[in-house]
Amino acid sequence: MPTVDYNEDIEGMTVFKSQFIGLREKGDKIKFKIVDKAFYVGKHWIGEKQTVNCSRVATGDKNEPCEWCEKAEQGLENPYHRSKKYDYGLQFYYPIVTREFNGKKIGEGAIFQTSQLVHNRIKEEAAAGIDIYKSDWMVTRNEGKPASYYSVIRLDPVPLSVEEQKEAKQIKEDFEKLKPSLEGKESKMAPPAEEEIPLGEEAPGESAKGGGDLLDDLPF
Ligand SMILES: [Zn+2]
Repeated sequence: MPTVDYNEDIEGMTVFKSQFIGLREKGDKIKFKIVDKAFYVGKHWIGEKQTVNCSRVATGDKNEPCEWCEKAEQGLENPYHRSKKYDYGLQFYYPIVTREFNGKKIGEGAIFQTSQLVHNRIKEEAAAGIDIYKSDWMVTRNEGKPASYYSVIRLDPVPLSVEEQKEAKQIKEDFEKLKPSLEGKESKMAPPAEEEIPLGEEAPGESAKGGGDLLDDLPF
């Protein structure tokens, strides 16, 4: 049985869950600056409230055994996802400094959990030659059709204050420590939301309410 002194760090457990931030309600709006590369996982729905991380996504190796990808390839029906498919969905984690949340000034480091819908928009800007680390971003959860489920707006660059720079440095360090637990194989999750979003474009936390213990509550 491992023991730990009270002033010691344990790998993967040093980040407080409250550092996660996401858009969980219609109309939620976050303004932020991205401070480092994104981290992502592939999630297969394997139960009412259960997902498992895709080992192919985790290793980047298409030949890696993954029983759930194999089920998807065989075209088996998945009773636990409204798409009826076993294909994985990608979920993204951005280390950020939160400028504002729902209009309230924050100025703190956080890990923004978001979906492929948001990531694709930012990727488009990066592909167009924009320095995505320089700009501020505003993402709003509108709901409705997948194409407009989130609005993603690039804002003018505003430099980080000295305090925000400290926050950025700290969240980058915390994010590194947290990655192993994000790669953890299974999660208990909230049931999928009712919105008609194609598999692979689903937002994490779609049906989870409130802040706090996102690691336990969110479908990711
Ligand atoms: Zn898989």
